[in-house]
Order: sequence, then structure tokens, then C-alpha cells
Amino acid sequence: MSEHQPSEKAEWADIFPFDPYPNQVKGINSIINTLESGGFHLLEGPCGTGKTLIGLTSALSLVRDPKTKFERILVITSKKQQLSAFESDLKAINNQDDVYFPGLTLIGKSELCPYVQTGHIGEQEIYHECISLRDNTQELMEEAVKKDRTAREANAAFGLQARAEQAPKHGRLTVNGKETPYMPEIPSVGDTEYCPFYASHITNAVQEEYPLSIHRVTTGEETLTEGSACGTCPHIEMRRLYPEATVTMGNYKHAFGPRTVSALTAPLVDKETILICDEAHGLVSEVRDQLSYGLTYSKLNHGVGNLKEVYGWLTGDGHQAKQRLASSLIADSPLETSDFATSIKFLEKLRSFISQAIVDGLKDEHGASWRADIQSSRRSEISIPMQSPTKPEPDPVSKWAEKNDYGNIWKLFLQVAKLTDSVKDIVSRKIDGKSPDGSFPIGAVYELFERWWVGSHSEYFRRVTLSPRQRVHANPNDSMPWRAGYLAKIQINNSIPQNEIAATLDAFGGAILMSATLSPLDIYSEVTGVTKLKNGTQPPGSLVTKAKSESERQHEDKDPRDQLPDLSAVGKVGSSSDKSMQEKRRTVGHSEFELGFPKEHRLSVAVDVPKFTYSNRWPPEENLGLRNTYSTALSTVVRTTPGNVLVCMPSYDEAAWASDVLNEDSNVQKEILTDSPSSDAETQCLKEEFIDGPPKVLTTSLRGTLTEGVDYDGDKLRGVVICGVPITTTGTPLAKAIETAYNHRFDGKGFEYAFTVPAVRKARQAIGRVIRGQDEVGVRVLIDQRYVQTDSYTSVREYFPEHAREEFIPIGIDDLGYELQTFWKSV
Ligand code: SF4
Repeated sequence: MSEHQPSEKAEWADIFPFDPYPNQVKGINSIINTLESGGFHLLEGPCGTGKTLIGLTSALSLVRDPKTKFERILVITSKKQQLSAFESDLKAINNQDDVYFPGLTLIGKSELCPYVQTGHIGEQEIYHECISLRDNTQELMEEAVKKDRTAREANAAFGLQARAEQAPKHGRLTVNGKETPYMPEIPSVGDTEYCPFYASHITNAVQEEYPLSIHRVTTGEETLTEGSACGTCPHIEMRRLYPEATVTMGNYKHAFGPRTVSALTAPLVDKETILICDEAHGLVSEVRDQLSYGLTYSKLNHGVGNLKEVYGWLTGDGHQAKQRLASSLIADSPLETSDFATSIKFLEKLRSFISQAIVDGLKDEHGASWRADIQSSRRSEISIPMQSPTKPEPDPVSKWAEKNDYGNIWKLFLQVAKLTDSVKDIVSRKIDGKSPDGSFPIGAVYELFERWWVGSHSEYFRRVTLSPRQRVHANPNDSMPWRAGYLAKIQINNSIPQNEIAATLDAFGGAILMSATLSPLDIYSEVTGVTKLKNGTQPPGSLVTKAKSESERQHEDKDPRDQLPDLSAVGKVGSSSDKSMQEKRRTVGHSEFELGFPKEHRLSVAVDVPKFTYSNRWPPEENLGLRNTYSTALSTVVRTTPGNVLVCMPSYDEAAWASDVLNEDSNVQKEILTDSPSSDAETQCLKEEFIDGPPKVLTTSLRGTLTEGVDYDGDKLRGVVICGVPITTTGTPLAKAIETAYNHRFDGKGFEYAFTVPAVRKARQAIGRVIRGQDEVGVRVLIDQRYVQTDSYTSVREYFPEHAREEFIPIGIDDLGYELQTFWKSV
């Protein structure tokens, strides 16, 4: 297929719902070329390029083509607004004649439970409450059979459903304006509340007849409304239906979160799936978050308790039925009772290392008076690194294990921990008749120490954080003296997810990584491991691929023995794979688009004034010259722009400063709104306030949520101004560990790769909020000499794509007012 083939002749032409622009034709053909050979395509284009449709059309065309291996698409995005964009573009595709691709959005239980949506259950309580309601439903069914009220549990489920359907006095439970078949309250039998939606699901499952079909719902909202109206649980329906979807839409957890993949999306992590990764400029930080893990010290203690409890059952302690069940389960595993004794000792040793590190850290922080100091009223959070953040060397625990050749014991302990979690789960369900509320503490202990062992010292940073407890505890246990004033949490943070991303991407048949701000593409390819895929040097597996293999073995409702984990999968992924480097090589393609709208509709300038860095600007009273320069520039943009202006600062404190100086400026007539850290709902209200009514100014932080993935279309925004380069704090131990890891991996380019380039992407994202359509006009102003200079080591101009570099004209502050006025007169 030619790259410039007219759309009407293209095989995908009937999928694309509009007349494609030449750039879109080129982009789709280019992606198809890359994916046909199982490759990865980087797609960079500003808002308005139609990236969502380009991605969907190319991927759907390949899925439809019987000559390819592709069967489905998994779309992941970090922004709700983008999820809606994919949903509506898929609907636009499906609204055409003779084209239909079933799609479904994956969302969480709290968003899909009718009782949460109608306020009967709190969002935070849903997991616990749902388990309790489901267990109650099950118990009521069993009781009905036991008491001979009915012959089968399924009949009892039907009875519970009917009971909740009886003519209610106060109408019916209504979700999104549609009535459900049930009473408005959570129904009960005596004092026992139950869930009729779950009872209905059981009835449907027995009859193998479900009221909801993939052809009836696409969005999460539709699944909620339609599922509730049919009287069945929308969340269970979503889980049942998504394997039938050609396009599944979700978030980063669905591809890169080991626990979510294991629990839900394992079948999608597959060579027959095309992954569309939207907002892919954030891939590294998203995956870093998915891999990081924290465990309270008290949970660690409970984890030791879980091991001892199961060991007790195996050695004749406790409830006899539990002893019998646990013994039979262990007999079916490759482990012995003695392995539990070894693991308890090993975990206690790991715990003593951590405890010693906490005490040593407190002594370093407070000196000889540490015991008294930790009980004082002026306590603040303390971070105790378990390894040097600035030297690439292992932590003491890993060194000890290596020195004593305890690698096999560590692996054995992980196997025992995993098995213990499963045994506890099965015993709870089979003997106590209760579904566990999440995993047991030993499951969390496994997660932490798996990463500790599997991840190298440069990939993960280990530390303990101590948070002041509300009340001083006068007599803490001798083994935990810090508990006099603090609560401890052991944390393992991923520093550099390059290998994990590469190995996870490799599990898919191909991928499109798209964003408005991927550039510079060479650096992006390095940090995301795409270069490794190109060279065939990607690792053979990741935590996600392991989670996938494990989950494939475990299915609900099987014999308990079949629910035991695959212990052979525990441990490090092999260092080499059977495939040669040549075989492992994946194609990498890319497409880059410029802002396609008329250039005369926008003014883009970079103002040459001294750097707005923390050391230059803080404290404000000692840096009045710099502060005056920036307040003058802000005032000039705000006064000359006939419409709303978004002022983007490096932090919320600086946003508050910008609001103060603009409020004090008698020449500024616009209302000034100030963003601050707040809930999603509050931020949304602030955005509405900003765009409603007469022109206003909104000051915000570039680390907030109003500068990325938020649409200000039409004339809602006429100007964006950015002060400084939003480089995140680099002084924390974790930031230093990230820089060290990147320096080590990327030849001394740690600061550039881990901090400078992501900061420029943030600035570019904010700049992208203005000019999102053909007829939109606006100004884009960068203030800081680093956006102007080309010959300084602090310059960031080189990280903009060439077309953007050409557009952002360097000017002096004295010319700013004139340039802006001239532009506004011209449009
Ligand atoms: S089973 Fe479904 S409807 Fe019932 S409480 Fe749980 S999530 Fe809500």
C-alpha cells in the first residue's frame, strides 16, 4: 500500500468515518506498515490531528484482515477525557453502514455498582461491602436448601431476587434515570442484607442466559445503566463481556499493573492483541507507579503471623478441618512442612534487618537523644534509605543474601509465601465460608520481597518512611521502639522501568504509542525500552508477563488444588531466552505531525528573561528583580489577551504568587482564579468557573491536572503562558535514586533523561491547551531564557521538535506587549 494512497482506495477507508486529511492517510498507512510486521509505532501529533481515529482505524483494519494474527485491540489511557474520545470515535465508526466492532470500557467496581451510584454504599467501602453482601447472599441460599425451603441453591437465588422485586412502597431503585427491578433500599432477610443483583447473576449463570450483550453496551456508563436496569450486577457483566469485545478500553493498570493483569486482563496481554497506548509521554511514570509497592511494618508482622498459622495447621495446631485441608493442599505442592519453618526464620531475619535500619536511621537523624526526640510534639515524616540513593550499590539485605548464597532460600520463601496466601484463601472460603477481603498480609509481603529480590539495586529504590502517629505511645514493644512516635512503612519504588516496559510491550503483537509530546523520539525510545525491542535485547519477561502466566492457571470454581499457584514461576525471569537476538527484533516506526491549523491564527513566543529556577526565585523578597520581570510579563499577556488566560507555574505556591501579583496590578481588570491541590470534583468546578462568563485568568501548577488531558475548545482559552521549566524536585532520596539509575543506564544522562525531557513535555502539554481547532486563535508564551538559548547547557530548546522550535520566536521582554498587540489586531 502506498503511503499516499487516496483514502477511497484504501482497505481501511470504510472504517474511517470522515474524509481523511492527507496527514491522516499517511499516518494510518504508516502504522499499518509497522504493525503488519508485528512492530511498534510512535505517533506524535498535536491535538486536532485525529490521533484517536488514526490509531483505531489502522488497528481495526488489521484486526479485520484475516491474513493477520490480530484478533483484538486494548486501548489504555491515563485521562478520562481521552477514554471518552476513544468511546465516541468507536461509536462514530460503528454508526456507519456495514461496519461494526464491539467495544467495551473497563472501569472499577465503585463506578459500576448500583448501590454506590445511589449512595447506599460509600466508594471507599465497596470492596468490603460487596464481599459481605455476596457472602450473605450465598449463605441465605445455602440456608434455604439446608432448611428444605427449596431443593437447589439456584432456586433460592431466584427467590431472593423475587423478594427484592416485590411491589415496593417507595418506588424502585433508579440508576441514571432508569428503574431497576428492585426496591430502593438494600434488601434483607431478617437482619441479613443481601445483593439482588448478585442473586440475579447466579440465576443467569445457572440458566446460561444473560440479559446484557456486548452489542448493547460500550461505555462504562452504559454498562452501569443497562446492567442495573436488567437487575444484574454491572461489574460482573463487564468482566463477563469484555473478552467478546474487539476493542477493550481501560487504563495503564490493564496492561502494566501486575495485579490488575493477574486479576482481570491477562487474556488481553497476548500476541493477538494490538496495544494502543494513549498519552504515551507518561508511560514511564505510569509504569513506575504500577511497579512501586509499600507495606506497613505491622502488615509485615501479620505476614509472619500468616506463615506461622499455616505452619501450625501443618504441625497439628488449631482447627482440625483446617489442619486436614491445609495438609492436603501442601501435599499436592512441591513444598514440605520444613520449608515453612525455614521461611519463617528467613522472613524474621529480613524483618530484623529492616528494624535495625529504622533504629540506625533514627540515631543518624536525632543522635543519642533519639528515644526522647521521637516522643516530642514536633515530629515530622522521616525517610530512611535502605540503600544509597547516589551510589549504584545493593542494600544490606540483598548483600547479606548474596554473601551467604541465600538466593535459593529467598526463592523458597517466596514460594512458601505465595502458597500460604492461597492456602489461607481456600481455607477461608471452604471452612470459614467467607470470601477474603483482598489478599492476606502474606500476599503483600510476597509482592514487596519479590520486587526486592527480582529487581536490581538500580531498578528499585528501597527505603522506610516513618510517619508521626497521632498520639505518642509511651511503652512500645522493644522490637519496635520507633512506635513510641512513628508508624513505619517499607517502600520499594521503581526507579527505571525500561526493562519492564520493553518485556511487557514484547508480549503484545504490536503497539501504537501515541501522544502530542513524545519528542525527542530517540530519548523516548531509549527510556521506554523501544530501542531494546528494535535491537532484540529486551528481557524475556516482566512482572506483568509472569502475572499473566500465573493467572492462566487459576480459575474460579475449580477444585481447590487447581487454585494453588504455579510455584515454578516464582523468582527471577531467566536471563536469556531461547530466541536469538535476530528473532527477538521488533520493527519500530514513527509518524510525526505538526499543528495543522492556520499559522496566522496563533502567536508563539519564547521570552528571553533570566531563568525561573528555585534558587533564582526563592525567597521572593530576596529576588525582587526576577519577580518584577516575571510579574511584568504575566501582566502584559493577561492585559493584551482578549479572552481567558491560563497561567502555568512550576508549583502551586508559585501559582498563588502569580495570582497575588496579578490581583495587586491595577491594570489587570480580569477576575483571577487560583488552582490548588484538590479533589477531581473541585478542580472540575474551578475549570467550569474559569470558562463561564467574562474573560478570566486561572493560575495553576504544571504538576496539576488542568494542564494535561483537559479540553478548552472553541474560544474557552485564548492564551497560555508558562513561567520556568517545570523540573520536579530533585533533592529527595527517591529523585536522587532515579537520577543515579538513569546515569548508570544511560551513560551519565540521568538528569537530562529523567528530569529535563519530562519537564519540557509538561510545558508542551500545557501549551497544547490553546489552539485545538481550525478556527481557533490564541497566543502561546514561554517565559524563561532556557526556552530561547541554544548554546547553554541548561537550554531546553533542543528538546522541542524542529517545527515547534521554528514557531516559538525568541523575543525580549520589552517587545512582548507590542508583539501581542500586533497579533491581536491582525486576527
Ligand atoms: S455484587 Fe455487584 S451490585 Fe452487588 S454489591 Fe457487589 S458490585 Fe454492587
